Amino acid sequence: MKCEMCGNDSKLRKVKVEGAVLNLCKGCQGTGEVMGTSKSKKRKSSSKKRRSKKKKRKPRSQQKFLVKGFEKKVKEAREDKGLKIGELAEKIKVKESVVHRIESGKLKPDEKLARKLKKVLGVELYREESVVDYETTKKDFSGSGATIGDIAKVKRKD
Ligand SMILES: [Zn+2]
Repeated sequence: MKCEMCGNDSKLRKVKVEGAVLNLCKGCQGTGEVMGTSKSKKRKSSSKKRRSKKKKRKPRSQQKFLVKGFEKKVKEAREDKGLKIGELAEKIKVKESVVHRIESGKLKPDEKLARKLKKVLGVELYREESVVDYETTKKDFSGSGATIGDIAKVKRKD
């Protein structure tokens, strides 16, 4: 076989030159893309960019706080409804002792439990407050004479 470029009789290789495949000697291979040996096997990356970011749809500036005096709130609301501790416990599916401890302030109900209590008693034990966002909030309210307490009220979601 002879080189299709220079006619030299030597070891040839298939080389892609401008779309055509030619048999070229070593000296001429530089003009094209040597086939077979190159890393032309570019693996089609099947790796889809996986968005593993599972961001909670809760802005960082909002935090929930257990209200002060939640134990009183619960107790008063319960008595208002004429419920016994055992009855309330049954409704929110906890042990009587849990209600006892909540009403004595020894146990802080988590949000889940607070939701149940809200359903049964209609008391809101958590309130949402803006914390990190305070600076922007302050700007928004500047001049309006709003106090932080007012801002908290505004931000509050019931
Ligand atoms: Zn050649």
